[in-house]
Parts: sequence; structure tokens; C-alpha cells
Amino acid sequence: MIGQLIDGKAIAAKLRGEVAVQAAALRARGITPTLAVVLVGDDPASAVYVKSKSKAAREAGVEPRDHKLPRAATQAELMALVAQLNADPEVDGILVQLPLPPQLDSDAVIRSIDPAKDVDGLHPINLGYLAQGRPVFVPCTPKGCMRLLREVNCDPTGLRAVVIGRSVLVGKPIALLLQNANATVTMCHSKTQDLAGEVRRADIVIAAIGRPELVKGDWIKDGAVVIDVGINRTPEGKLVGDVQFTAAAQRARAITPVPGGVGPMTIACLLENTVEAAKRRRG
Ligand code: NAP
Repeated sequence: MIGQLIDGKAIAAKLRGEVAVQAAALRARGITPTLAVVLVGDDPASAVYVKSKSKAAREAGVEPRDHKLPRAATQAELMALVAQLNADPEVDGILVQLPLPPQLDSDAVIRSIDPAKDVDGLHPINLGYLAQGRPVFVPCTPKGCMRLLREVNCDPTGLRAVVIGRSVLVGKPIALLLQNANATVTMCHSKTQDLAGEVRRADIVIAAIGRPELVKGDWIKDGAVVIDVGINRTPEGKLVGDVQFTAAAQRARAITPVPGGVGPMTIACLLENTVEAAKRRRG
């Protein structure tokens, strides 16, 4: 390995420490930053994720409130719970764990969250602010990617950034954040004709695809910074990213591993958004 390993675990721990300091300052003034997490159904992966959110929240001085609805919950039941959390003055952030069971309309649920409590940053109003270049709550994984760039002193100004993947959750917000940070941004997706050529020109590569090692090591420009958002399980049960890590690390100036890169940043950024929401509403 030649490039610097971007240690997401360590950077996330540092960020959680910063959040804890801010949460303690709020608590000293009688304000307990509070995050409500709504889990519908019993999907094991979601349950594990919710549990780790609650643990990390508690450790950072953010009070977690878990709300569980049965798998067969109706749209009206879920919307009523969100309305109750919107109205609760003690709740600063609301997160509805996705994906929802198929009978539920997740877009309608997200739209029903008070934008001032939308710590996931997925409400159209918050995505609109981001598109306008004046973000309020930024989706957590994209926010984490930008922090990782900062931690390796990668200022995107004037650099060519290629974002692979255009989901509302990851690719689109990252592209907007990079534009706001003055990068020249190219968005790639499944219909892009020459993905290798696009990546070869990039000073910053963000891969958010969900295809194991689709981005080949020899596509990476010498000295590029590579952020791999992808999490894929191989048939052998190993976790790999969207980038061929070992080969890419020979060329990159800095690169995230999978696991231990972007993953740990997401929860840390969720807690950061929750404390920010508490300050905005009650600070
Ligand atoms: P998604 O909604 O499935 O979007 C995938 C994107 O990749 C789409 O825009 C798709 O293009 C594009 N794509 C698919 N095949 C491609 C190809 N052959 N060449 C170029 N582009 C291609 O996925 P997502 O929710 O954004 O997640 C992406 C990955 O990040 C997944 O592995 C997910 O597990 C991971 N993830 C990680 C975290 C974390 O905390 N670390 C958080 C969220 C997601 P089209 O639009 O043309 O279909």
C-alpha cells in the first residue's frame, strides 16, 4: 500500500467526541439533545443499525428514543407517530429507519417530518437548501464523506471530482456538496459510456454504486483521493467496497478501506446533525 489509509473509525470517534462536547454544553443549560428513531418491522439488519445508533447516541450525550411499530403497520399509524414526534418539544431529531415494509410510502413519510427535525437531511426542503448551496441538514453519509476529505487535507477547490452513483441518499447530495466546495463535478451512473475514462481524469473519486470492486485499481489517477461508499458482501461472505482496494491504493494519495472507512462516519454525522438541530431549535 502506498497511499494514506483514511481511517474512518478513528475520524468518526473524533467527530463523536466533538459532538459530546457540544451535547454537554447544551445539557449544562438544561437542554437534552434527543433523537427519536422509528423502526417499522423486524428486519434484522435495521434492528442492528438502530441499536448501534442508540448506543452511540447515549455515549455522545444524545438521548435516544426508540419507537417500534409492527411490520404490518399502516401508513396512517406511521404518520400519526411522526406527527406526535414533530409536536413533541423535547424531540430534536427524527429518523425513520429505511427501508420500510412495502405497504408504506417512504417518500410521504419523509415529507411529513418537520424539516427542522429532519436530521437525515432527506426532506425535499433540506435537499432543496443543499441544491441552493445553503445547506441546513445534510444527509449523513455524504456529510461523512466530506469530513473524510477534510481530514486528509483535500480541498476540492478546482479539482475534478467524479461521483459514481446518483441516488438521492448518497450520490446526488455528494455531488452537490462537492460543487458547493468548488470542485468540477462529473456524475456517473449505469448509463455512463466510458466510466474508466471518467475516473482516470478524476482527482477525487467517490464510488457509491453497490457493485463489488467495479472500479478497477488501474483507473485511478496517480495522487487521487478515493472515497469508497459501497458495502458489498462477496459469495464468500467477505465485505468489499466498490473499488479494487489493493490495486487502487498503489496509485491513490489517500483511500478509504471497506469496512472501516465511510461506514462509521454515518452515525457520527447523524449525531452531529441532532445536536445542530437542538441548537437551532432551542439553543
Ligand atoms: P442505489 O440507490 O442502488 O444507487 C446505485 C447507483 O449506482 C445508481 O445511481 C446506479 O445508476 C449506479 N450504478 C449501478 N451500476 C452501475 C454501473 N455498472 N456503472 C456505473 N454506475 C452504476 O445505491 P445507494 O443507496 O446510493 O448505495 C450505494 C452503495 O453505498 C451501496 O453499496 C450501499 O450499501 C452503500 N451505502 C453505504 C453507506 C454507508 O454508511 N457506508 C450508506 C448508504 C449506502 P442508475 O441511477 O443509472 O441506476
